[in-house]
Amino acid sequence: MASSLPEITVVVPVYNEEDNLPLLYRRLTAALDAIGRPWEILFTDDGSRDRSVEILKAFHGERPKEVRVIEFERNAGQHMAIMAAFERARGQIVVTIDADLQNPPEEIANLVAAMDKGHDVVGSIRKDRQDVGWRVWASRAMNIVRERITGIKMTDQGCMLRAYRADVVQQIVATGEQTTFIPALAQFFAANPTEIIVAHAPRAAGESKYNLYRLVRLNFDLMTGFSVVPLQIFTIVGMLVSFFSLLLVAYLAVRRIVIGPEVDGLFTLFGILYFLVGVLITGLGLVGEYVGRIYQEVRKRPRFRVRAVHESLD
Ligand code: UDP
Ligand code: MG
Repeated sequence: MASSLPEITVVVPVYNEEDNLPLLYRRLTAALDAIGRPWEILFTDDGSRDRSVEILKAFHGERPKEVRVIEFERNAGQHMAIMAAFERARGQIVVTIDADLQNPPEEIANLVAAMDKGHDVVGSIRKDRQDVGWRVWASRAMNIVRERITGIKMTDQGCMLRAYRADVVQQIVATGEQTTFIPALAQFFAANPTEIIVAHAPRAAGESKYNLYRLVRLNFDLMTGFSVVPLQIFTIVGMLVSFFSLLLVAYLAVRRIVIGPEVDGLFTLFGILYFLVGVLITGLGLVGEYVGRIYQEVRKRPRFRVRAVHESLD
């Protein structure tokens, strides 16, 4: 029956969120019922080691037509969890939301209202962001750097409470990318994007799944995935350093002829040398970031492994 197809698909990546799921489920289903259009929720369990899968399966048992659960073999990361759900989403409007209740489900109605105005991507800006201090500042700085480097306009890149039209979702799925950043990809494909302001809450239970290392990796995905400007900056730095070194050599040559050989300044030399070695290693690492990702993409290993899908489709 065509009429049973959902209009709205909500995608929720879940990684060890057992304490948040019951309240999330209640608030999310209530918010969706209130909108009054056919909907579905696609949970992806991203290899949780707690009871998340059992809880999600129970939700599916409760509302089998509306709740679908994708179970990963192992942790593949938030963006891959969303990708897997995007592959299966059936709604014309696809909404992503975190499982930890930092994004209020009640805001979905506002995203949908903005989509109804004809936008194909609706981003969001967190009002009074509720995260630990250093993350808010680091994220703001990264946001500015990212906008400069990639040219992608997003006021608040980290907020995952967003809505996408089905055709944008299909284009995202079609890229088949492994190391990616979904909001940036969507912005790249969007013809008529907009942003709305949404509320933000502290994590309801549990801890953030991103430590400093995973955050750095995610930001590198974003930079390397959407621009080669970092490499070009390095080339320019290299050229500047070469130019000034040449001046220095010319000066020393003249000095040697006029005054004689230079013997002092040994430690100044070390200082300059260490600095340049630092620049060099950073450059090598930067190239490595690109090469590593190219390697990952060309091997064509599966991006994620689905153990089971719990759903009852007509
Ligand atoms: N998440 C996931 N896989 C991961 C890490 C996170 O599916 O490897 C989910 C997590 O369960 C949550 C969302 O992605 O629903 C956002 O994660 P988190 O709240 O830890 O990130 P933060 O809000 O601290 O940026
Ligand atoms: Mg969170």
